[in-house]
Amino acid sequence: MRLKLVAGNWKMHGGIERNRDLLSIVISGTAGLQKTACAVCVPYPYLSQVQSLLKNTHVSWGAQNISQHDMGAYTGEVSADMLTDFCCYYVIVGHSERRTLYGENSRTVSLKFKVAQDAGLVPILCVGETLEQREAGFTEQVVREQLDAVIGLVGVDALARSVLAYEPIWAIGTGKTATPQQAQDVHVFIRNIVASYNVKVAAELRILYGGSVKASNAAELFAMLDIDGGLIGGASLVAEEFISICLAAQN
Ligand code: PEP
Repeated sequence: MRLKLVAGNWKMHGGIERNRDLLSIVISGTAGLQKTACAVCVPYPYLSQVQSLLKNTHVSWGAQNISQHDMGAYTGEVSADMLTDFCCYYVIVGHSERRTLYGENSRTVSLKFKVAQDAGLVPILCVGETLEQREAGFTEQVVREQLDAVIGLVGVDALARSVLAYEPIWAIGTGKTATPQQAQDVHVFIRNIVASYNVKVAAELRILYGGSVKASNAAELFAMLDIDGGLIGGASLVAEEFISICLAAQN
């Protein structure tokens, strides 16, 4: 059985005091979780603070992006080794905001995936289509291309040490959520692609759904057979919402 994961993506939000308050409530509110793992992916400047707040707790932490380069003259970038210095467990790669706002393509994303894994980090690989692509019937083609780029570079077995997140771009931060069945259909499609290479890896792969998940819709999404938790943006900044989402994954 796949252990569910609920990971918060704080995006460019946070503050020293606010992080402390938020995490202390999240730690105590999720203390009873047994069948669900819980994590937060935070802005780089807060990794040190979050590490000291979360070490020896059940909540893991990670970053939201990583450089595809090991080191060098890449102003503003952060390497895999730097993330491991702060004991990050996860790193998000290929978030749609990185793909659309910062021009990351599937090749860049797959290089980031590889660099992360080579350093012992667990990449959370995001895939998903725009509204135009969905309406034109290209959802599967887009998701397949994004996934194939990674499999082509690292091989399918590497997915065993990663997490996937299906995040339809039209549902991110918009308040529009995919219906449980829409999400389930794409999750099955992803799992089937992976199964065409390796059935065991596919069966064990955690595929999260992301896109306007809230306390009010989490339970119905997480009830779907192939939805193994969520990648949570806005709602991860509100302690009670995030805790309720974690509890919904547990039930
Ligand atoms: C995200 O940032 O990955 C996300 C899913 O955001 P939101 O939950 O706010 O839609």
